[in-house]
Amino acid sequence: MDKVNVLGVNFDNKTFNQFQNEFISRLNDHESTFIVTANPEIVMAANENPRYLKVLQEDADYITADGIGIVKAAKMLKTPLPERVTGYDLFLWLMKIANERGLRVYLIGAKPSVIHAVQAKVAKEYSNVNLVGAEDGYFTEDLDLVARRIQRTQPDLVFAALGFPKQEYLLSILRQNAMPALMMGVGGSFDVFSG
Ligand code: UDP
Repeated sequence: MDKVNVLGVNFDNKTFNQFQNEFISRLNDHESTFIVTANPEIVMAANENPRYLKVLQEDADYITADGIGIVKAAKMLKTPLPERVTGYDLFLWLMKIANERGLRVYLIGAKPSVIHAVQAKVAKEYSNVNLVGAEDGYFTEDLDLVARRIQRTQPDLVFAALGFPKQEYLLSILRQNAMPALMMGVGGSFDVFSG
């Protein structure tokens, strides 16, 4: 079974390693790719918010189980998922790839002090990354305008740490525009990364 349905959200039935292989191949091909790492809160929110559910069902290319609660629910439904695949682990791994390859990375989200600390850490520990954008997540413009700003920088990777559903709404615009990048919502990851 390719997908495992947990309360209307279709999780990809893949291991961390299988996701890695597919993401690398899509990066190499410059394919527009929108990844959602969904925890139980996201699944519950999607069940109460048709617009959000639609984004997960129609715009996301991959949905990973970000949380043991999802893995347990899948097992209870007798359609087990192989393992937990968190946004933070994928973020760290993709940043490593970006550093090795000198990729163009756009980071958006978290408080101004946090994004500044993230920027400093990237400059120090991922110095080969081409950081084409780093902005906090408390902008007041429409998401369409923000999406346009991101698109102009032609990133290979976009990480949005705005919390759900905002991060997925932003990335779904970029995905609908077929922006040729790998993009992922990473929740509170910048807070962890900067700490
Ligand atoms: N955030 C943001 N803009 C907002 C609301 C939240 O950038 O308008 C950031 C917040 O500073 C934090 C992250 O989004 O860094 C959300 O973290 P949380 O752990 O609440 O998200 P979850 O992983 O639960 O979606």
